[in-house]
Amino acid sequence: MKPVNEMKLVIPSRSANESYARVAVAAFAAQLDPTIEEINDIKTAVSEAVTNCIVHAYRDKIGTIFLTVKLFEEGKISIKIRDSGCGIENVEQAMEPLFTTAGEERAGLGFAVMESFMDKLTVRSKPGKGTTVSMEKRLKARPLRV
Ligand code: ATP
Ligand code: MG
Repeated sequence: MKPVNEMKLVIPSRSANESYARVAVAAFAAQLDPTIEEINDIKTAVSEAVTNCIVHAYRDKIGTIFLTVKLFEEGKISIKIRDSGCGIENVEQAMEPLFTTAGEERAGLGFAVMESFMDKLTVRSKPGKGTTVSMEKRLKARPLRV
């Protein structure tokens, strides 16, 4: 299906850009006239995915994060967050709640949060090549104002 509207954002993996990405996606998604709860869900999911790019994909360096957001008729939003960082050896294991490679520092809940706040989550990754996180959410039916 063709999106009704679409945006792309390319940012360096600097910590300061986590809040920028979260707010930019929320501002774009506002066209769907979301509820406060829906917008908060989207912001939280984007924040988790972008943070993963910053702290895991590009652990000791600054790399590029690519975001693509698409809005569809009937209020569906799709968000892709891609990095060309270190990649994930075992995606299934990484997606398990409480699994982390960051020791005591992190809770290992990022993917679980994305999964619970969005309707669909797909993670594709190649070690040494990078990771793409795709998420979808269907917002409560409202007319799209573009
Ligand atoms: P938390 O999100 O609770 O702070 P976490 O980041 O370790 O902890 P998840 O977000 O669920 O937990 O990610 C699980 C694991 O998957 C990470 O510890 C990391 O090993 C790996 N991972 C996640 N995203 C990426 C990524 N973009 N690139 C490389 N590895 C990743
Ligand atoms: Mg995380």
